[in-house]
Amino acid sequence: MTDMLYLKDCYLKEFDATVTKVDGKYITLDRTAFYPESGGQPTDTGKLVKDSEGYKVVFAKKFGSDISHEVDKEGLKVGDRVHGALDWDKRYKSMRYHTACHVLSRVIFDETSAQITGNQIKADEARIDFNLEQFDRERIFAWGEKANKIIQKNIPVELKILAREEAFQIPDLVRLKMMLPESIKEIRIVDLKGFDVQACGGTHVKNTSEIGEIEVVKAENKGKNNRRVYFKLKE
Ligand SMILES: [Zn+2]
Repeated sequence: MTDMLYLKDCYLKEFDATVTKVDGKYITLDRTAFYPESGGQPTDTGKLVKDSEGYKVVFAKKFGSDISHEVDKEGLKVGDRVHGALDWDKRYKSMRYHTACHVLSRVIFDETSAQITGNQIKADEARIDFNLEQFDRERIFAWGEKANKIIQKNIPVELKILAREEAFQIPDLVRLKMMLPESIKEIRIVDLKGFDVQACGGTHVKNTSEIGEIEVVKAENKGKNNRRVYFKLKE
């Protein structure tokens, strides 16, 4: 079982760990700050260093309660002590994009009651999919400005891990109850104070001010009720 350090501290850039499993280039650690690809957020990359030997981490993925790190070459062994370091610029951008996704998703929900069906974060762009009958391009572009007004309020972002029953007492999360299997006992909560609460395992900035400004760049009609909005962070 890997202790997922990023759930509690999204700003952890380096850490020490012990190798617990090795399968060729796939390395499991007892603890990690590497975010594994999931929930629309891309994998972290970076390196593991043992003594002076560096191993590039090219991909991380969760398997059950373990996180597997794919490295660029073999050589690590069970019991090795390693120092991990993230490609921080890449990860920090993902954090800004991910928190921006929560803001824009909430704006879309508040404006339309549309169901958000997915999101995908890339290096320089993110997209949100939602279910809505009308497709009004101008209206979609206007949501970007609404989101920026929220972002400018410098809303603190709080991360909490709650027991299942406690989490479902939060009104925004009630509809999740049907979707999450009983086996999940703890739920990670991302709380944009006074604005939005989501169950989410991703990494986030600690205040919306760190997002800066977003720009909606494209609106797409993906067939019956399926809409997609693309946005970028303004640099
Ligand atoms: Zn999220």
